[in-house]
Amino acid sequence: MKPRFYAVFGAILQYKQGGGLCARSRESEISMNISRLNAIAAVTNYRATAPALDFSKTPAREIFGANVFNDRIMRARLAKPVYQALRRTIERGEKLDVSIADAVAEAMRDWAIGMGATHYAHVFYPLTGLTAEKHDSFLEPDGKGGAMTEFTAKQLIRGEPDASSFPSGGIRATFEARGYTAWDVTSPAYILENPNGRTLCIPTAYCSWTGEALDKKTPLLRSMQALNVQAQRLLRIFGQKNPDRVFATAGCEQEYFLVDRNFFFARPDLISAGRTLFGAKPPKGQEMEDQYFGAIPERVLAFMLEVERELYKLGVPVKTRHNEVAPGQYELAPVFENANVAADHQYLTMTVLQRVAQKYGMACLLHEKPFAGINGSGKHLNWSLGTRKANLLEPGETPHANMQFLAFCAAVIRAVDKHATLLRASIAHAGNDHRLGANEAPPAILSIFLGEQLTEVFKQIAKGGSGKAQAPGFLTVGVDTLPPLPKDAGDRNRTSPFAFTGNKFEFRAVGSSQSVAGPLVILNTIVADSLAYIADELEAAPARTAPALGAAVQAVIRKIMKAHGRVIFNGDNYAAAWQQEAARRGLPNAPDTAEAIRAAENAANDEMLSRMGVLSVREFHSRNEIYLEKYVKEVMTEARLSFEIAKTLIFPAAVSYQKLLAETALGLKALGQKHCTTVLDELCGLAAELQARIEALRTAIAQAGNGQLAAHARHCRQQVIPAMDAVRAVADQLESIVPDEFWPLPTYQEMLFIK
Ligand code: ADP
Ligand code: MG
Repeated sequence: MKPRFYAVFGAILQYKQGGGLCARSRESEISMNISRLNAIAAVTNYRATAPALDFSKTPAREIFGANVFNDRIMRARLAKPVYQALRRTIERGEKLDVSIADAVAEAMRDWAIGMGATHYAHVFYPLTGLTAEKHDSFLEPDGKGGAMTEFTAKQLIRGEPDASSFPSGGIRATFEARGYTAWDVTSPAYILENPNGRTLCIPTAYCSWTGEALDKKTPLLRSMQALNVQAQRLLRIFGQKNPDRVFATAGCEQEYFLVDRNFFFARPDLISAGRTLFGAKPPKGQEMEDQYFGAIPERVLAFMLEVERELYKLGVPVKTRHNEVAPGQYELAPVFENANVAADHQYLTMTVLQRVAQKYGMACLLHEKPFAGINGSGKHLNWSLGTRKANLLEPGETPHANMQFLAFCAAVIRAVDKHATLLRASIAHAGNDHRLGANEAPPAILSIFLGEQLTEVFKQIAKGGSGKAQAPGFLTVGVDTLPPLPKDAGDRNRTSPFAFTGNKFEFRAVGSSQSVAGPLVILNTIVADSLAYIADELEAAPARTAPALGAAVQAVIRKIMKAHGRVIFNGDNYAAAWQQEAARRGLPNAPDTAEAIRAAENAANDEMLSRMGVLSVREFHSRNEIYLEKYVKEVMTEARLSFEIAKTLIFPAAVSYQKLLAETALGLKALGQKHCTTVLDELCGLAAELQARIEALRTAIAQAGNGQLAAHARHCRQQVIPAMDAVRAVADQLESIVPDEFWPLPTYQEMLFIK
């Protein structure tokens, strides 16, 4: 069932190939919308320009980490004591010995220049959610008309980007616009390639002169620190004298869409909002599910291979790739790493995906919902905590090991329930509002999937006594071994926003476009807080030896289950019944960004974040303000775009067709022929409706700016978005009756299915 335009287009293409006129000059004859025609022609005639990669010449193994100032390079280039001091900071979190920085800077500079780098950049992660970098040349004038290369400890350790235009939420007074970047020793420096040069990139934290965090890395590092302190406390209680450093681990599955760049540039909404604000559902959507795990189209596979190669060079351990559910949708996932490094690597992944896509004539869409009615994209954040040797969320084989596992797992249960509002706010932004609760992604209610067996274990513990002999059906912590827990992915619940998957938790409600640093900060911190709670309880127990400790763990788990067991839900999170059940359990349900941010800003969260040393009240509130402002800006941008596209592209298309129909009817009438105006009537109705709704949108946009941020955000949610949706609804109806040749925007059919 080919739409008409393919036939028309085929004719043009043949004509062009036969050396005839170009499409434009035939516009008046076959007046199909010219920009769409050109786009389709360009897509059909696409030829790869990038040279083919040959992995047999340079095996992936050799490429991996080739552009990273990694352990191997450090060991080779640094004097032994310097290397060892640096390792201690990286591995054990010991304070950086500043006296070694000169030696490190020199080694880093020589290595980078040897690799062809001309500049260095402190890379930082401002609250815009993007990365920022300021490039400086290694060259310094030598005062004799020449130049020398310079890169000292001072330049490695600290930078002062002029940062007055990054959001600070009022923290950084305008008289002190400078922010400072500080070298993050624990995330390796790397070289970023460009066809015309290379840059040494140094991951950094970014603060104000008073030391307040202005970025996403500073609180992440603080949260890793808090997690380590509290987890080690617990490990000591469980008998480890000198526990290794504990850190969070993260593995982020990234979903994305690819569309041809010619279509992308013909869609002002994709360019400026990252998603389509108009577009009728195509005749074939994702119903057939023939794309999921299907064969990857050739151009896409070529793109993926290059993405992986680039990421390998940067030491990002990408592992899996496949087609996703929706047409044009794909996924990439790395092997998990230390969460701080994983967060940096996640940024790099998003950047590389977008850069490489261009090279293959495509645009990579990271937005949560680029196409209405088609599945959106998420980013599953797999999270655990452990030492270099052990995963602390791995169920053990002995009763003692299980006791420890249960304590860590209980900490997560308490954390997610007690601070659900914080976790919810960490994934709240305009894009994700389209997904959460939209029956393809987990609902906005946070609950935990534990699986039947583990849930049963916790229930039995909660019912049990204090460690004395129990009736069958009760579990005694520290004495009984856990039943084997299924680790297999087969029967895993895919609807839960937060699922235990064998030895880690999978936070599935994270948005595809967002930085994972925010959710990581919250996860690490709320779990650290709960570990502190458990450690406090256990330290107060009469003894730390086997039966008494078991009883104390049993008691604390019982308390946690009583207060927070409500957050466990193994059923279908997409079902309407769950919404009611969750309400009955008293679980918070913030349906949108404005509400989620408002709900998170409360005294309990303020107190916990500052007690854990992760965000001061001022930092936390300034962040909320920035995120709310970002939400308002995004919605208002979309609203203005909607208005403009509807008014200047779609309405005129409707009118052109109206004119044609009206003239035809008049002509027929003049000739005394039968004429029918049903289509014209329908069109007139829709066009009038469109005009009315465009005006309503204009009013909603104009009313908004009253200076009150929270009220403005609410106005966006309650007035602006519905007004925008209303315009879209009629426009999409028009798309189905206005002839193709008049329609100004590439259709869903074209964007999703022409590869
Ligand atoms: P899915 O079945 O959800 O598609 P994948 O196998 O694609 O799962 O991805 C699982 C992700 O979880 C990978 O990125 C993997 O590295 C990560 N992961 C595995 N173990 C851990 C862990 N201990 N901590 C954090 N992430 C982990
Ligand atoms: Mg997953």
